[in-house]
Amino acid sequence: MLTKVLIANRGEIARRVMRACRELGIRTVAVHSDADAAAPHVVMADEAVYIGPSAASESYLRGDRIIEAALATGADAVHPGYGFLSERAPFARAVRDAGLVWIGPPAEAIEAMGSKTAARTLAERAGVPVVPGATQPVRDAPHALSVADTVGYPLLLKAASGGGGRGMRVVRTPADLPAALDSARREALKAFGDDAVYIERYLEGPRHIEIQILADAHGRILSLGERECSVQRRHQKMLEEAPSVAVSAELRARMGETAVRAARAAGYVSAGTCEFLLARDGSFYFLEMNTRIQVEHPVTELVTGIDLVEWQLRVAAGERLPWTQDAILPRGWAIECRITSEDVRNDFLPTTGRITALGPPAGPGVRWDAGIEVGSEVSRYYDSLLAKLIVWGPTRDLAIARMRRALGELVIEGVETARDLHVRILDDAEFQRGDLDIQWLERRVASLTEPARDPDRIFAAAVAAAILAARPATAAANPVDAPETTWAATARREALRSPLPVSGRRTE
Ligand code: ADP
Repeated sequence: MLTKVLIANRGEIARRVMRACRELGIRTVAVHSDADAAAPHVVMADEAVYIGPSAASESYLRGDRIIEAALATGADAVHPGYGFLSERAPFARAVRDAGLVWIGPPAEAIEAMGSKTAARTLAERAGVPVVPGATQPVRDAPHALSVADTVGYPLLLKAASGGGGRGMRVVRTPADLPAALDSARREALKAFGDDAVYIERYLEGPRHIEIQILADAHGRILSLGERECSVQRRHQKMLEEAPSVAVSAELRARMGETAVRAARAAGYVSAGTCEFLLARDGSFYFLEMNTRIQVEHPVTELVTGIDLVEWQLRVAAGERLPWTQDAILPRGWAIECRITSEDVRNDFLPTTGRITALGPPAGPGVRWDAGIEVGSEVSRYYDSLLAKLIVWGPTRDLAIARMRRALGELVIEGVETARDLHVRILDDAEFQRGDLDIQWLERRVASLTEPARDPDRIFAAAVAAAILAARPATAAANPVDAPETTWAATARREALRSPLPVSGRRTE
């Protein structure tokens, strides 16, 4: 088994990995920048090494310094978390060449799945359905127009090296294609240093369903079922659940087999995820494979009972997976809400500041994976994900009710967060029916972020204030002392209910 692991990351995922290490009796080494000198992940680790200035490019992306830190502290392995260096094949290779264990897939598998076009090619060869389109990048506008004719409109321009939704453009008519190609290329070059763009059919109203894979180094690859990640804004996930209302046992088995086939074709070992679009007619298409642990991994852990990070560590140490595929069945329902430091009313602008108060939710079925504590500085240097709130319930309805309760308990002061948007999403009738697709949040976001507009409730709230102001305190406290009209009863209820959905600003 491993004895000491360096975690090349920060925030909630660094602490998540440390927890798994600690349960296995493995010592932990944190790395940190200037901004993170007193960060919770540093406090939690057994040892910590300073690796550079606050900008990620000078610290968390400095593979050379991270490997030096691992060697200097006598660590025997490196866990990359997600983001930063987690999907950089040269870093995985450098870790291995330094005589350290890489807690992730082989560098060759990262490479094989590294670009969207390479992954498409690999998937096609393995008989995995991909979104209709052309796998080769387009050369110029005339070439793009001729490719577009064969693919059909609407179409999606995608950066071959893309990620995080960047370098993507929806094009509905040939007239819009040249300008969209130009801007997709420019964005891709800036973000990824590669302006290669290819054309895919744009699917209307699919769901984003992904399959969690776990593979050992002895040839066993298991599917741990699906996650529903359709609640997205600008191609960024907000809330995830497992399982999905749209996936039957039969479809789960088929998608699972397909994902395993893609993973096998890439020579995959460790935890990984195959992302698919699921169309309304039940057909599904491979999008890409994420060759690392994902932000939303806990929902799979809660419904399967399998600790994915523990098994990343065990598999990296050479252990065999002890289960067969038929033993893996989802039990109950899990939901994750990403608690980001964003001002949802101000176009999701990232907010910064100091966490002045923090009251994490607790109680049955609640898990809180956070990178912050009271006093933490939320800076502009890093991702806006502060914490993840994850709940489990025996049914989807009960999981929703539990998440609603847990979000109500959560207190975060010092920065704006997305908490109240999550409350609104959970209260939404379409969400409650599971009537979702990847454009759902985009369509609903304006109404979900504006102050409550229900005319009855606004009127009732105004009247409530007047009644409470006009009545003697004893009368206001005793609702049965006077006959009331219906609106007055509503007004009283309004005055007494939680201000949360109306004010939406308790997390400030
Ligand atoms: P990235 O790596 O930039 O996140 P993905 O290929 O994973 O890009 O796509 C991100 C999101 O964009 C998907 O979850 C989905 O919502 C949307 N998307 C991607 N491809 C298509 C497509 N062909 N049709 C419709 N939506 C798509």
